[in-house]
Amino acid sequence: MEKTVENLNKLYAETFENMDKMSKFLGRNCVDHALDFHYGHSIKINGKFTNELYPIPLVRFKLKEIKAESFFDVYTNKDYIGYFKLYPNKQEILSLNLKVFANFKHLIYGYNYQNELYNSEDVAQTKINIEKSKDTKFIIYMDIGNLEQIFSVVESFMTKPSQRFSTANYKCDCGHYITINTYNGACPICGKDSPFKRKFKIKCPICGTKCLKDQYGNGECENCGWKLGKLANKLKNRVIYPNPISLNKAKQLYSEGKPFETDLDDFVEALFCYSEMQFKYKGIYYSVELVGEDEYDIELCNSKTGETSIFKTEEDFKNNAKVEGKLLKNIWEETTERDWLQ
Ligand SMILES: [Zn+2]
Ligand SMILES: [Zn+2]
Repeated sequence: MEKTVENLNKLYAETFENMDKMSKFLGRNCVDHALDFHYGHSIKINGKFTNELYPIPLVRFKLKEIKAESFFDVYTNKDYIGYFKLYPNKQEILSLNLKVFANFKHLIYGYNYQNELYNSEDVAQTKINIEKSKDTKFIIYMDIGNLEQIFSVVESFMTKPSQRFSTANYKCDCGHYITINTYNGACPICGKDSPFKRKFKIKCPICGTKCLKDQYGNGECENCGWKLGKLANKLKNRVIYPNPISLNKAKQLYSEGKPFETDLDDFVEALFCYSEMQFKYKGIYYSVELVGEDEYDIELCNSKTGETSIFKTEEDFKNNAKVEGKLLKNIWEETTERDWLQ
């Protein structure tokens, strides 16, 4: 029995890891989602369905308000780790860019007449087939070869919300384990309001616009982009999570009509607050992290080449850090996306 459990754990370990990575990916992109199990899955071996039914984990969410599910299979091979399903109605499927699926093994079929396939080599022809069909609901099925594939498909359909809140996890009355990041705070499965609905109103400390905050006081001003945080309100001159500049500096910049620019001093101050920062220069991301036993050393790393350099002090980093042979302090104006490590 112990051996069986051990084997089962091994079998499911990768599957759960994939599900977890999918959940984190959706979280980073503020797509509310639920973790679930699908119990009636018959395993495909050598391209044929077997009679064995296995439970497999899945992640449920919505893309453009359309129900979406990504399943992670236990029986995998180098071209298959699971499958993805999207459930659009006729109007929705006709409005979707189906080219997104063109490079993947996929099927488009009717929900009512399940045998009816609408796939064609040519996307325009597929749309004509769908238009002419008797079906009113459809399923787009796609085999997932690796996580990058499903990430790219999801990315091309998702709409990024304008506001960020802290992640909230809870069990909905419908029985699903839900992760929400967006402001509407509704269960993506049954639609019920979550106990973490972002309903608290607050005035933005920078520009005075009314905005929503979550139960932890986090949120984002839609007008000026300031990220709300309790600590920044208390320590007004310090760079405090989740903003890369201090509250007073942001106020000053806002009153001058300038964007919230992070200078090198702010960046290093933020580094000592978050431990991990990033910036982009000429299309390449650089990470800056506190490393070493006491985390006092500063490590600069080129994400493309993996090349790293270490600086012993703050001043050492500010004065001597180089990217592409140039001193960072001299090219700082040309860097973008100065932020905590994403
Ligand atoms: Zn629910
Ligand atoms: Zn504001």
